[in-house]
Amino acid sequence: MRILLILFLALSFWFFLDRLLKYLISLGQPAGTRGVSGKPRARAVEGDDMVQDPQCKVYIPLSRAVERKVGGETHYFCSEDCARKYIKNLPS
Ligand SMILES: [Zn+2]
Repeated sequence: MRILLILFLALSFWFFLDRLLKYLISLGQPAGTRGVSGKPRARAVEGDDMVQDPQCKVYIPLSRAVERKVGGETHYFCSEDCARKYIKNLPS
């Protein structure tokens, strides 16, 4: 009889989870517009653009990037080390 009780509890728990999930999804839909406001948070500082390090492909905020002019083009690196490696590996 114990197994039946456990089964019943598991089923009701599953049913509860299913309802909860559907409720959360219905809540999430209007929140989709709210989620957009969370996006600028990914940027370190307001108006701080993310730039990609061509050496290690990592994204860094422009204000913290190491700036190097390579062949008339400005490149941004996550570190002095990456800048050096990149310039060293450039075909010249
Ligand atoms: Zn790097």
